[in-house]
Amino acid sequence: MSAPVLVVNAGSSSLKYSLVDAADGTAAASGTVERIGEDSGVLTHRGPDGEHRSERRVADHEDALRAALDAFAVHGPSLADVDLRAVGHRVVHGGATFSAPALVDDALLEAVTRLMPLAPLHNGPNLEGLKVARRLFPDVPQVAVFDTAFHQTLPPRAFTYAVPHGWAEEHRIRRYGFHGTSFAFVSRAAAGLLGRPADDVNLVVLHLGNGCSATAVERGRSVDTSMGLTPLEGLVMGTRSGDVDPALHAHLHRELGWSLADIDTALNKRSGLRGMTGENDFRKVSQMRAAGDERAALAFDVYCYRIRKYVGAYYAVLGHVDAVVFTAGVGQHAPAVRSAALSGLQRLGIEVDEERNQRAGDRPTVVSTDTSEVAVLVVPTDEEWEIARQAVAVVESQS
Ligand code: ADP
Repeated sequence: MSAPVLVVNAGSSSLKYSLVDAADGTAAASGTVERIGEDSGVLTHRGPDGEHRSERRVADHEDALRAALDAFAVHGPSLADVDLRAVGHRVVHGGATFSAPALVDDALLEAVTRLMPLAPLHNGPNLEGLKVARRLFPDVPQVAVFDTAFHQTLPPRAFTYAVPHGWAEEHRIRRYGFHGTSFAFVSRAAAGLLGRPADDVNLVVLHLGNGCSATAVERGRSVDTSMGLTPLEGLVMGTRSGDVDPALHAHLHRELGWSLADIDTALNKRSGLRGMTGENDFRKVSQMRAAGDERAALAFDVYCYRIRKYVGAYYAVLGHVDAVVFTAGVGQHAPAVRSAALSGLQRLGIEVDEERNQRAGDRPTVVSTDTSEVAVLVVPTDEEWEIARQAVAVVESQS
């Protein structure tokens, strides 16, 4: 490994890690510690000799990272033999403070703490991950890579909500956008596939995973994105509603007496595909639809129609589009979504080649016809590699 980086993604009850070579994206090992803080935790480690699963109580994030380090020691590769260049951390919310990845120091920890109110469910555990890794790897540079940073190029007209002026200044109410690490990776890879420099192409990028968001990329810079203050806004997702009438909260509270917390949970955890069909996994929804389930058919339509609306909106935002790019689990592996979202758009210069579309998936692929003015691309995302690459770039810029 020429530039080994330990990538850490600390969630509320889980910690994901991988040992990635920033030079080529290969992962020598990866794993997940789940059910942190519960009676029994589960560690899954994938190393040189396959997958190992073990169960034991994992008290907190420090315990989780220690369990991961034990797994490296027992199953390999030995971290003692690897000259780690950095530990790269995924941090969800960088607010308006961070427009680039940054070295972790006391000031950064304080800044991330101040951002907690904007994303309490994410930044809290992320902060724990930063602190714990600093303790366990005191001699390795720690770098925070923010999901929001790529969208700090949004112009004020795109990030400002039409709400009283003071809200933005006093309470930091504005659109931030998320999935930035994925958008950065995919935009560059898409430009590469088109054979052009990243700062030369305009793209509409659709990240369709469990969470889904769309971004308008102008000459390599994000100029609009569908997620907002929080990751709830925009496209239909596995369990999140995406766009709803903002008066829905008041209506549910008034009519049903639900608390704000109930409504927040319902829109974040029990809506989207799950709300419409009972299943949040797109594969299951597809199976139900194929078996004639009407709710699943409607959910598929709603999901694709919302994507189509954002493609149209961002086409207008950009004026000229070089490519529409699909990525993440659904974006890469569901050709039916790509065709449903983009069918009948020849007048916009968008023509999907059905045969190419059906075959695409694991590699960067062009799925438009040779005569399509706008290319349609499938580009697998790799957030771990992007975090590793950004972490090394920060470390090198310091030396
Ligand atoms: P995350 O946002 O958690 O990183 P992924 O990018 O892995 O998620 O995407 C998860 C989604 O992708 C799930 O809804 C899953 O059903 C869907 N998905 C994965 N593989 C396929 C497939 N072969 N066909 C359709 N959907 C798929």
